[in-house]
Amino acid sequence: MDRTQRVQLIDDLLPQTQCRRCGYDGCRPYAEAIADGDANINRCPPGGDTTLHALAKLLDRPVPTPDTDCGEFGAQKTVWIDPHSCIGCARCLPPCPVDAIIGASRQLHVVLDAECTGCELCIAHCPVDCIVLMDRNERPSPTVAPAREENLQRFQAHERRVVQRNERRQQLLAERKKRAASLIA
Ligand code: SF4
Ligand code: SF4
Ligand code: SF4
Repeated sequence: MDRTQRVQLIDDLLPQTQCRRCGYDGCRPYAEAIADGDANINRCPPGGDTTLHALAKLLDRPVPTPDTDCGEFGAQKTVWIDPHSCIGCARCLPPCPVDAIIGASRQLHVVLDAECTGCELCIAHCPVDCIVLMDRNERPSPTVAPAREENLQRFQAHERRVVQRNERRQQLLAERKKRAASLIA
């Protein structure tokens, strides 16, 4: 089996929340580090025991103790936005890898509970600290955490949107520069 196949098999077992708790820049980079022998398999808290045992089985290794420095293993978290404090600044939107927050500028933002992975990446971006992390079963109407495949699809769609947005920006910039140059000439 070559490296690409090995990375894919490992990545297929990771929960795809892209939370970076493993210390890598997402699930794929962590899968690459495991495949290259640079990282232990015990660094994925969202995957919990299930992912840990599946990785050990795939790689034919003993099951190591979870590395709790990476976070609480297997916890089902989500976040909630306090509607009384949200100022609608929209700073929480770009960091969400699965686009689970909705809201327009200067309007209340809301988390889609069924799509939120509890990755926590939005929390630090809120200037008024109104994004609250909680256990899923603490919610008034608890929902189950989204499945790996849903996380992956949403993350890939998010990445495509980021690329398209950047391309549009570059295009606009190039057109403005061209217009400015023609005015000078
Ligand atoms: S879900 Fe696991 S592998 Fe993926 S980024 Fe988070 S900790 Fe790393
Ligand atoms: S809303 Fe926040 S915690 Fe939930 S998936 Fe998006 S960035 Fe992660
Ligand atoms: S960053 Fe905080 S205040 Fe700004 S829109 Fe998001 S939740 Fe509301």
